[in-house]
Amino acid sequence: MNKPESLYIHIPFCSSICDYCDFTKLQFFSFLADSYIESLSKEIEYYQINKKLKTIYIGGGTPSVLSLKQLETIFNVLDEYRNDVIEFTVEINPESINEEKLKLFKKHGVNRISMGVESTNDKILHAIGRKHTFKDVKNAVNLIRKCGFDNLSLDLILGLPNVSISLLKKDLENIIELNPDNVSCYSLTVHENTKFYINGIKEPPSDFLRELYDLTNETLLENGYIHYEISSWGRKNKFGLHNFTYWTNKTYYGLGLGASGYINKTRYKNTKNLNKYLKHQFIDEQEEVTCSDDLTYEIMLNLRTINGLDLTYLKNKFNIDFLNDHKDKIDNFVSKKWLIFDQKNNKLIATYEGMMVLDQIILDLI
Ligand code: SF4
Repeated sequence: MNKPESLYIHIPFCSSICDYCDFTKLQFFSFLADSYIESLSKEIEYYQINKKLKTIYIGGGTPSVLSLKQLETIFNVLDEYRNDVIEFTVEINPESINEEKLKLFKKHGVNRISMGVESTNDKILHAIGRKHTFKDVKNAVNLIRKCGFDNLSLDLILGLPNVSISLLKKDLENIIELNPDNVSCYSLTVHENTKFYINGIKEPPSDFLRELYDLTNETLLENGYIHYEISSWGRKNKFGLHNFTYWTNKTYYGLGLGASGYINKTRYKNTKNLNKYLKHQFIDEQEEVTCSDDLTYEIMLNLRTINGLDLTYLKNKFNIDFLNDHKDKIDNFVSKKWLIFDQKNNKLIATYEGMMVLDQIILDLI
């Protein structure tokens, strides 16, 4: 078995719960986090993780909410796996980061920071239950740069309640002024069991979302960012490497409460039940990936990025002639300018328009 080269670790704790959040998250209590980290260490042991990992991503939740000592315990466990790591990301929130934590990150090989900003308007931040202001974001960015990190990603949510085109313009202006290396923008989804849902907040109409999305794309392109994946824009050579593991259908370890992983032809989901997790009952569901599922994942995931779907790779892996097998459909998508056929590299690549209707394309192709 080829061991995965990427590791995702989920830290579910947050200082408070945002009104729109559907991630696996829990209110932070230090004693709970201590027990959680003990279980996490056992889970790491259980997998006998590859010591030649290429990427590590600690996400959440809010990993930066952990104390210095708790973070150090995790990093000490991970130290033996990071000799070959190219990208080591930690997600943070502006209100829970400080210089000591950033120095600790550096000491243990973290070289990329991903920060949840979501909006740069303090009224909106307050209304959605975030505990930081835009000033906190600016201070955190200064601190991150001061501590020597040259790879910083900032997240925004598109379509939050009361957002207008002019507010988004201001958001983008503010974000660009901070000069991040990567910007990720996600459209608001209102999930059941969130305060948003309970309060009857609706997702914005799709044509308005499209306007927001187009403005984001145009502004970021004008400012030198490359749109390299549906929701991600990055500086050249600063694309988020870890996520390419998912988008190229590669295997990865997923550890922690509610995390998903893909190892040796099996996709699995960890329990979201903390009691079970603390009793080391990590996995909740697992499913063997059949050959046809595998092909579906290849199409679905690879078309998300500007690298596209490599038809030579598909031919070698599945012994299929994808282009000929789906000729009429692909011709139709190419004529609509949703897909490009890159003859030289034998690849199918989604255009910006194509990315906007990717679900439709994928449904048709699978
Ligand atoms: S900080 Fe992130 S994970 Fe935590 S509640 Fe807010 S959105 Fe969810």
